[in-house]
Amino acid sequence: MKILVINAGSSSLKYQLIDMDGEQVLAKGLAERIGIANSLLKHKGINGEAEIQKDMKDHNDAIHMVLEALMDEKHGVVSDLGEIGAVGHRVVHGGESFSASALIDVSALKAIEENIDLAPLHNPANIMGIKACVAAMPGTPQVAVFDTAFHAKMPEKAFLYGVPYEAYTEHKVRRYGFHGTSHLFVSHRAAELMGKDIKDVKIITCHLGNGSSISAVDGGISVDTSMGLTPLEGVIMGTRSGDLDPAIIKYLMEKLGLTIEEMDTYLNKKSGMLGLSGVSSDFRDILAAANEGNKRAAIALEAFSYRVKKYVGAYAAAMGGVDCIVFTAGVGENDGGVRAKVLRDMEWMGVKFDEEINATKRGEVELSTADSKVKVFVIPTNEELVIARDTLALAK
Ligand code: ADP
Repeated sequence: MKILVINAGSSSLKYQLIDMDGEQVLAKGLAERIGIANSLLKHKGINGEAEIQKDMKDHNDAIHMVLEALMDEKHGVVSDLGEIGAVGHRVVHGGESFSASALIDVSALKAIEENIDLAPLHNPANIMGIKACVAAMPGTPQVAVFDTAFHAKMPEKAFLYGVPYEAYTEHKVRRYGFHGTSHLFVSHRAAELMGKDIKDVKIITCHLGNGSSISAVDGGISVDTSMGLTPLEGVIMGTRSGDLDPAIIKYLMEKLGLTIEEMDTYLNKKSGMLGLSGVSSDFRDILAAANEGNKRAAIALEAFSYRVKKYVGAYAAAMGGVDCIVFTAGVGENDGGVRAKVLRDMEWMGVKFDEEINATKRGEVELSTADSKVKVFVIPTNEELVIARDTLALAK
C-alpha cells in the first residue's frame, strides 16, 4: 500500500508518499507560504523534482497542488489518486483523549478540536490539513498520529505539576510531552542495535533539533519526558526558553512592561539559543560565531549542553539506571561538539565514548567504546515512517 504522510503547519505543509512494500519514499516535498504571497511547492520524487510557484490561499489549495504534483506526467509517482491507500496526519496534541494513533472519524476530529486550547498554534493547522485531505480524497482512510501518544503511559508522579490538583482534573494541566514518534522510533532502533528486547532496556533519548526534548524510555514506555503541557518546557531550545523559575514571568513583565501575549512571544520566539547568543537560533551559526570568539555564542552552547547533561543524569536516576543514550534530530545527529559536551566526564555513570568517532562519523553510528557500560548511539530519526507504519496498521 502507498501511504501519504502529511505534516501541516500554519503556513506550510510537508508531505511524503511512502510505498509500504519495502518502505520506500517515492516522493516528498514542502508547500510553503500557504495564504501568503509567493507560495511555493517544492517536490522531489523518484522520477524528478520540481519547484512550482502558484498561489495557495489555504490548505485545500496546498493539498490539491501536492496531489497534482504526485500525479504529474513528468515528476509524478502515481497515475491515479486511487493508488494512495491511506493518509497519515501528524497531529501535535492528543491531550488525554488519545493514547495511540486513531482512524479519523467525526468523533476523533471533535476530540482533536477539543484539544485546540492545549496547542493553539499547532492543532488548528493539523485540522486544516485533515479536512483538506478528506475533501480531496473522500473514502480514503485518514489516520491521526499524535506527538503526545507515546508519552501517554507516563506515571502520574511524573506528569503532575506541583499546583492544586484541580488544575489537572478541571483544566487538563499536566505533562504531556511531544516528539513522541521520534522518541519511539529511535528507542526501538536502539534496542535493535543492542540486540535486546526493548522490554529489557532503559534508554534515554535526546531529540535535539530546533525544538528539543529528552525522554526516559523504560521497557519501551516513556516514563518521563522534558516537554510539558506545551513544548516550551525542558532543555533550552532554538528560540524557546525551556525550564525557568515561574516567578521570572511576573518579574520580567513588570520590568519590561509586557502583556501576557508579549511575554508568551518573548519565551517562545525570542529566548533560547537565539536570545542567549544574540546571533541566531541555528546551531551552525552559533558554532561559527563561537569559533570566531563570540563569548555569548560560546556560553549559549555550554548552557544548552549542560541542560541536556542534567536531564540525562536525572533520567538515569528516575529509571534506576540507564543502558543506552541516543542522540537524534538536527543537532543531535550533526553536532559532535554538543554531544561531546554532554558525554564528557560521565565515566562515573558508566559512559565512555570515542571522541574521534564522535567528531568524524555521520549517520547511524555507535559512539560508546567497547568497555563502556552504557551504549551511546546517534540514530537519525524518521517520524514520517512511524506515521506511515501506524497508518498502514489502522487502514488495514
Ligand atoms: P526541527 O525541530 O525544526 O524539526 P531539526 O531536527 O531539523 O529541527 O533541527 C534543526 C536544527 O539542527 C537547526 O536549527 C540547526 O541548528 C541544527 N543543525 C542542522 N545541521 C547541523 C550541523 N551540521 N551542525 C550543527 N547543527 C546542525
